Amino acid sequence: MPDGTVKQVGPLTGTSVWTVPGRAHRPLAPPREQVRELVPGDERRLCAFCVDRYLETTPEKARLIGPDFDEVRRVPASALFAQDAQFRRFANLFEIVSAEYWRENHGFRQPAAVFEWAQDYLTDPVGLEHITALAAIRARASGTETSLEEAALDLLGGSHDVIVARRHVVDGATHDDQLVSSGELTPDEHAAYVAFTVRSLAEIEAAQPHAAYVAVFQNWLRPAGASFEHLHKQLVAIDEHGPQVDRELRMLAADRGLYQHRIADVAVEQRLLVAATDGAVAFAGIGHRYPSFEVYSTAAENLPHEHSERGVRAVSDLVHALHAATGVHVPTNEEWHYRPRRAPWPMPWRVLVKWRISTPAGFEGGTKVYVNTIDPWELRRRAVVELERLRGEGRLAPGIRIGDECVAADAHLRYADEAL
Ligand SMILES: [Zn+2]
Repeated sequence: MPDGTVKQVGPLTGTSVWTVPGRAHRPLAPPREQVRELVPGDERRLCAFCVDRYLETTPEKARLIGPDFDEVRRVPASALFAQDAQFRRFANLFEIVSAEYWRENHGFRQPAAVFEWAQDYLTDPVGLEHITALAAIRARASGTETSLEEAALDLLGGSHDVIVARRHVVDGATHDDQLVSSGELTPDEHAAYVAFTVRSLAEIEAAQPHAAYVAVFQNWLRPAGASFEHLHKQLVAIDEHGPQVDRELRMLAADRGLYQHRIADVAVEQRLLVAATDGAVAFAGIGHRYPSFEVYSTAAENLPHEHSERGVRAVSDLVHALHAATGVHVPTNEEWHYRPRRAPWPMPWRVLVKWRISTPAGFEGGTKVYVNTIDPWELRRRAVVELERLRGEGRLAPGIRIGDECVAADAHLRYADEAL
């Protein structure tokens, strides 16, 4: 518009978004009101995800240890504290889609291996005490009692998992707001985190035959929906893939090259490429309720777990770089999108990083027009400046092209090559 208002429509969602001039220079994240000084040892017990509080989370399904991020599975309760895990995976204590949901609505029964694991876990006295305490918490929350065997089965065999990073705050932190976000991890740590999540996604999908989709996301800080300020991702199996995928499948029926034509080509034309690496590309997204980056895998594979190690790493490196450029105090949602198991058309693996810096309110509720304070070009400009600074400090993975270093060929998506 002549006054500088930018009206956008999300090409995949149809969401109507206005960026109003004069609001873009407000600070992204106000400083936290209460900051607490840490005494030595506090950094290991700030929340229930911290390393000295492993027994406050549910039984561990897997962990990564050591400098090479070796995977160790099903550590018994009595051995949890033998060493600090780099990353851990366990069931969410309060699932969105519960084990009971799969049992009652789909007649799902746990396989023998999970029964045996539950028996083993309860045979360990520390494990028995662990399950007893967790069962009591769940019984208080739900108002229904279950046996310890049932509680153990649900906790070990559920399909809503959490993956938690080791550190809550940076090494040597003196205050509790010196948090470790995705961008504070090293590129190698972040790659291990993403690869662990990809493997977990494949396992959850394989273990739950009634799942239509496994939602993967990361909520960072409370305004983005996180219960703890401790870095974690979540994976939730669901029995439908939701209306947004349905909408995209209808669009794909008419154009298999949907994401190339409606997203990548438009980003090139509008000069919205933020960064690229061999195997992935990042755009400043158009028509989102919140300022959003879109990282697309440019590989031919559709599912995250079909990607090569290098393909996963490429996506990880760009997602890491964008989190680093975002900064630790900006609340974000990271959302993974990929082709659902039974979807008939090819879809690329893509990861959205959204800055949750505003709260839709009455205006949005009444009009379904969303006011976003930063337009895609300003988002790109800010990100490019930050990425260049971070690269100069050696904080990014090698091989990332930034801003105008990207070329149109970087935005060539190959997800539909076989279908075209
Ligand atoms: Zn913590």
